[in-house]
Amino acid sequence: MVRVGFGYDVHRLTEGRELWLGGVLIPHTVGALGHSDADVLLHAVCDALLGAVALGDIGFHFPDTDQRWKGADSKVLLKAVVDLLHERGWEVGNVDATLVLERPKIMPHVPAMRATMAPLLHVGEDAVSIKATTNEKMGFVGREEGVCAYAVALVQRRA
Ligand code: MG
Repeated sequence: MVRVGFGYDVHRLTEGRELWLGGVLIPHTVGALGHSDADVLLHAVCDALLGAVALGDIGFHFPDTDQRWKGADSKVLLKAVVDLLHERGWEVGNVDATLVLERPKIMPHVPAMRATMAPLLHVGEDAVSIKATTNEKMGFVGREEGVCAYAVALVQRRA
């Protein structure tokens, strides 16, 4: 038995913040604003996984009113989501995600992101797809005011 889930997230870009994407610190002039480390890619993946098993969303499980998650490493959130799936008898099949931002170039960082995410998801790196596109200078992403991410995840019943 398999299930599919979808996730979307967006964060504002601002000076004085770090840019964490896919669990990797990306050198850049601006970073993502948020209660946690604002890793938009990991948040979208968390929501895709939660969506696949209809267990709510990341805001429900890790509310930004909770001081525990202030400045939180989103890898900890992803691990908690995967643990939750395992407890409910599910395991991750694969994840496919797309980042949307104008700068910097993401492709050089994709191998590190996949290597970081695969063990958290308990899958091989070949089951973690990360793609990136610009928004062709249109809209809030085009003006470099924000970064967004989309993800789908397949989960399956544990053997
Ligand atoms: Mg978020």
